[in-house]
Amino acid sequence: MSKIKIALDGPGGAGKSSVAKAVAKQLGIFYVDTGAMYRTVGLYMKEHGISPEDTEAVISALPGVTLSVSLVDGKQLLCLDGKEVGDEIRTPEISMYASRVSAIPEVRAFLLDTQRRLADEQSVIMDGRDIGTVIFPDADVKIFLTASPEARAKRRYDELIAKGTAVTYEDVLSEMNERDRNDSSRAIAPLRPADDAILLDTSNLDFNGSVAAVAEIISRKTAPAPRMSRFYRVLHALAGWLIRFLFRIRISGKENVPKQGGYVVCANHVALVDVFTLGASFPRQLRFLAKSELFRISILAPLIRSLGAVPVKRGSGDVKAIRSSVEILNQGSLFSIFPQGHRYPGVDPADTPIKNGVGLIAYRAQAGIIPVCIKMKKQKYCLFRRTEVLIGKPITVGELGLHESGSEAYARASEIAFRELCKLGGFSRSDASENNR
Ligand code: C5P
Repeated sequence: MSKIKIALDGPGGAGKSSVAKAVAKQLGIFYVDTGAMYRTVGLYMKEHGISPEDTEAVISALPGVTLSVSLVDGKQLLCLDGKEVGDEIRTPEISMYASRVSAIPEVRAFLLDTQRRLADEQSVIMDGRDIGTVIFPDADVKIFLTASPEARAKRRYDELIAKGTAVTYEDVLSEMNERDRNDSSRAIAPLRPADDAILLDTSNLDFNGSVAAVAEIISRKTAPAPRMSRFYRVLHALAGWLIRFLFRIRISGKENVPKQGGYVVCANHVALVDVFTLGASFPRQLRFLAKSELFRISILAPLIRSLGAVPVKRGSGDVKAIRSSVEILNQGSLFSIFPQGHRYPGVDPADTPIKNGVGLIAYRAQAGIIPVCIKMKKQKYCLFRRTEVLIGKPITVGELGLHESGSEAYARASEIAFRELCKLGGFSRSDASENNR
């Protein structure tokens, strides 16, 4: 594997550090614990009798903090004033010191270079609160690990009890809630998932399950895009050329298609031939949904199967089709969906209702959406008349509001993507067109 940067953010007690440690070991890369650095600054303040609330005093004391961080034998070695720092930074009191000092911009600036430098020479998985948003906005993989406050408090409580610290579950929960509040509401680098982060809720996962889920996301995000099958390649070249020629297809925005990674391709639907128009316009293989009836036509079935179609039963929420679509996206492929649900020849896409499936599938796969507008005169295919395929920039999971689940969120995300494709084609969508699902 070439050098990679993995950002693992999330609230305290979500299991970031133990999961990151295990994943780092599996991948043979370094684990960097940025929380430990803030804790060490907190420890210094406590040892020097400086209140973490006294911002001026903390800032004045910073030059005296001689903190060195190095990566030795796959582990992070943290020294304060030349002495290795150990479990003394793991107490609830130091947690609170860390939370307070970390809200001071000067403290964050003090640690920023140290954190960035650690990824210069080696592959790292770095855990913290702002790794994906501030430290490495260009990280190869961004994961936001979360869990319910109760699940997180229980884990922290068990950890502390195992270490012999005398605490109650209620105290741990209330301390955790307070830290969450501090970390999320502070003005600088507040705790929030990066727009392109994948959200992983570990409330119902045990440790091994969490490690497996994180490792799976990393391997999915770093895998090269699946290669086109030979059949698809030949068809892409020959039939693609024919379609582009017959409908004088002009493609714009090809450079917006990421070279790797699973994305939902969301396009407007004019005619059956749209699937081929899109296939001929995209530089990567597109998978798509096809009516299950088509798979029963014996001469057609092998063709659409080899093209990578997924059968869908129309008119019902086909759970199996949704699952297959998510799996395909998880394998790093592009998956095209027409949110209008059926064809609208001759109709301006801005005036049609849409369904929520795009948002639901993007949420389940935590995949971004690439909006595409198929535009032609009077929205009808006509031989040798110009057809435009306008490919937009991918919209991230965060921009789609899909760090949240629920039918409202899926509807909103579908609408955001559909509006964007209308905008590409110069169609203006009014609020009245929305939500006739
Ligand atoms: O991750 P951990 O619980 O050890 O972090 C201790 C505290 O340090 C957090 O509550 C948070 O306030 C702060 N922190 C931060 N930014 C990071 C890592 C930790 O603000 N990247």
